[in-house]
Amino acid sequence: MGAFVSVQAQKKQEKTFIPPFDFPLSLSGNFGELRSNHFHGGVDFKTQGVVGKPIRCIADGYVSRVTVTPGGYGQAVYITHHNGYTSVHGHLLKFHSEIEKMVKAYQYEHETFAVDLKFDASQFPFKQGEVFALAGNEGYSFGPHLHMEIRKTDTGEYIDPLQFYTHLIKDTTAPRGTHVMFYPQAGEGTVAGGTQKKAYTMEALRTPVEAWGKIAVGIKAYDYMDGTLNNYGVRSVKLYVDSIEVFRSTVDGFLSDENRMINAWTDYEEYVSRNSWFMRSQILPGNTWRMLQADENGGVVTIDEERFYHFRYELQDLYGNKRTYSFKIKGKQTPIVPIDKSDKHYFHWNRGNVLLEPGMLLVVYRGMLYDDVKLNAKVLTDSLGISYTYQLNDKPVPLHAGCPLSIGIRRYPVSDMSKYYVARLQKGRKSSAGGTYKDGYMTASIRELGTYTVALDTVAPKVVPLNKPQWKTGNIRFKITDAETGIKNYKVYVDGDFVLFKFSSKNATLSCIDPKRIKKGKVHQMQVVVTDYCGNETREEYQF
Ligand SMILES: [Zn+2]
Repeated sequence: MGAFVSVQAQKKQEKTFIPPFDFPLSLSGNFGELRSNHFHGGVDFKTQGVVGKPIRCIADGYVSRVTVTPGGYGQAVYITHHNGYTSVHGHLLKFHSEIEKMVKAYQYEHETFAVDLKFDASQFPFKQGEVFALAGNEGYSFGPHLHMEIRKTDTGEYIDPLQFYTHLIKDTTAPRGTHVMFYPQAGEGTVAGGTQKKAYTMEALRTPVEAWGKIAVGIKAYDYMDGTLNNYGVRSVKLYVDSIEVFRSTVDGFLSDENRMINAWTDYEEYVSRNSWFMRSQILPGNTWRMLQADENGGVVTIDEERFYHFRYELQDLYGNKRTYSFKIKGKQTPIVPIDKSDKHYFHWNRGNVLLEPGMLLVVYRGMLYDDVKLNAKVLTDSLGISYTYQLNDKPVPLHAGCPLSIGIRRYPVSDMSKYYVARLQKGRKSSAGGTYKDGYMTASIRELGTYTVALDTVAPKVVPLNKPQWKTGNIRFKITDAETGIKNYKVYVDGDFVLFKFSSKNATLSCIDPKRIKKGKVHQMQVVVTDYCGNETREEYQF
């Protein structure tokens, strides 16, 4: 009976949505893939290596939102379906002409490329199968594909679109793991005689790892599909210790509030410092993502007997393809030195925390840390600096949302306070955390504990004309860059009138997307105005 019901349920689900394309489906990215600060919220459908493939509406509904951005989804269409779901389609080349008209009118009226427009059910209704856009490679996309999400309309929850299309894509390939990371818990455990985390390849794990006290593990693994060279996120990870399940992750849905919980589930430091993704088989105390399940110890295992502990990982994809890895931990008694939690640099995950140094105040609100952390905080003084430089911690620690960091200014090389910003120093590079000035301090909202200082941006953006000989044909392009805080705004006027130019953040290129506005057969005056986040402005005049 149970099997009968589930087959029926599956048949019904398959009918909910038709595929967006009429050619065979293939994925370059799956749901829940690990990305910087977020899970991949949808699937990436390959478009046979080209842009311009028509996209069909996957179920009856209406266009409820259209966005245009220099990065991100580039051009995106949101369709609210009558069945309770909303589909989102990103990196589009072109909207349906009726939508295009509306978007363009707004762009000219407001002299802006970026738009975020909402529509009601009466404006752009689409029937299942009707074409509403062409797939492209716009925004933060590095190859033609359609990014498609399916969200529950009422809660906004992202769900796995692949579940509606499994009958159209073949997959018999199981996920594969390459490394296991061992995490001795601070002041409570050791691994291989040490207190630092330690990674082992699957091969190296044929020799049992010695450990004592409280430890956790994590795995580096990817999924694969038949007939593609891509790697994908692993839908399900289960960990068994001595045959008892201690942890399970199922990446099949999340709310946008939970998206940053990826930084609690994965090894954030490992990703930021070495671009390597490990999925913890441990629920850090501040991690509330519902798709993780663990025993009462949150997946932490206590090694308190001198014997072998049998660990087994089970990785599974949406199709049920499964692979397991077994290894042993050898319990070996080792002295454990507890850590001092009363230190002022010890931050508690379940309270608000404050760090006060000469000329600096950091407030970390309750709920912003996923775990306790003992900060390795340092003040780096430089008598010539605009401010001191503050190392809040030597390793990056993620915060769930922005927390205020105030840094006192010691020298004022310029009097215009809008030119100052809080700078993050990382891997020898400086990036802007923004910030506002008040009473001798710059305050910025930061989302990671790292190293910060105050810097000055007095350098206006650089505008470099490209392919000038072709400008007459309407193919007008520029490279626009900003050395410090980045490009905030740009406008291009031809013969005094605003003309729509697209800014693509992935290659810093500004290109004319509406050459019809420029009348042929005369000499044109063009003005390009670009500003950065500290209000520095570049104005360039050209004639063509
Ligand atoms: Zn995508």
